[in-house]
Amino acid sequence: MLDADFFRRWMTATAASVDREAERLTALDSPIGDADHGSNLQRGFHAVRDALDKEPPGTPGGVLTLAGRRLIATVGGASGPLYGTLLRRAGKALGDAAEVSAEQLAEALRTGVDAVMTLGGAAPGDKTMIDALVPAVGALGESFAAARAAAEEGAVATTPLQARKGRASYVGERSIGHQDPGATSSALLIAALAEAAG
Ligand code: ADP
Ligand code: MG
Ligand code: MG
Repeated sequence: MLDADFFRRWMTATAASVDREAERLTALDSPIGDADHGSNLQRGFHAVRDALDKEPPGTPGGVLTLAGRRLIATVGGASGPLYGTLLRRAGKALGDAAEVSAEQLAEALRTGVDAVMTLGGAAPGDKTMIDALVPAVGALGESFAAARAAAEEGAVATTPLQARKGRASYVGERSIGHQDPGATSSALLIAALAEAAG
């Protein structure tokens, strides 16, 4: 079973990984965006880490809803409301249970990813974070490691696609040949989950 401490470790590991990869995320956002994805997520996940340090929630759902709220409040870019919605909706789906199973987490994340697709209007193949998140939640029933591999593969597979959503869609065919920054950061989020699971 997974407790609040596990979910805090997941968020802390994500913040650390975003710090390590911020320059790369911003570099990916440079040719097909506005070169701020790394700094956007650093600001957001620093705020998440600080909020979790200050008032650690006692439940898995509490950790994810607080994290989602902080992302929405602190990230100006498209990714803030989208990641915020993912975590908030997943947190809400977990309710106030003190511990949840891996199956419940997978189901909650599926609900969160559906909410991101509704909010942003992106489907798989549009070259967004959805291209990493959908395969990841699909593989989560198998194992955390399988979800991590699926997310990484999904992120790499965005390279030959033309973007149909978000800022990258503004550059039309010139988005082809570049890996999507949001799909790349989604792979970091899922890798951090596998890391927290040990
Ligand atoms: P902004 O584009 O506002 O500068 P970021 O650079 O932080 O925001 O985030 C860009 C990422 O957000 C993209 O690489 C993409 O993965 C994701 N994204 C943008 N629009 C959407 C959308 N409508 N649905 C899903 N993901 C999206
Ligand atoms: Mg950007
Ligand atoms: Mg921006």
